[in-house]
Amino acid sequence: MEIIKYPHPILRKKCLPIKNPSSLEIRHLAQEMIKTMRAYNGMGLAAPQIGKLLQLCVIEFAGEIFILINPEIKKVSQETEEFDEGCLSFPGKFLPVKRPRKIKITAIDFNGRKYNLHAKGILARAIQHEIDHLNGKLFIDLASPAKLSQEHSKKLAKFQNNDKKSSK
Ligand SMILES: [Zn+2]
Repeated sequence: MEIIKYPHPILRKKCLPIKNPSSLEIRHLAQEMIKTMRAYNGMGLAAPQIGKLLQLCVIEFAGEIFILINPEIKKVSQETEEFDEGCLSFPGKFLPVKRPRKIKITAIDFNGRKYNLHAKGILARAIQHEIDHLNGKLFIDLASPAKLSQEHSKKLAKFQNNDKKSSK
């Protein structure tokens, strides 16, 4: 499957909640997303990145796969952490992003049952990055310009200009 690259306007759209989590269609979509994420050596992938405006994202961390359907961030820690982040829709770009270090989220499973997930560090970062995608938010929105190198700042300005053009 192809990954949609920035500044495609679909990456700025809000995704719809999934009403039929147990459908074959959703299971199949999740499987395709896992395959695609692995093919591109990604850590996470959100449905809009393959052109589906659905609240679904997948993450692979420390050998474990997380399939998040209709995820919601419920709590974030005061404590933040800054770390270089990349995105499959921005090949080869890495920017420092500050995020809460710990989070609590809810999501539903393929049976529609709600569950809680607590995460910290890299996993918490990956989950926040993917949930942002479901709301049309991208990591370049969060990169702190003051902390960016000059080269990074130029690239960021370029991204933001393209984004303005594409959203018109
Ligand atoms: Zn991303």
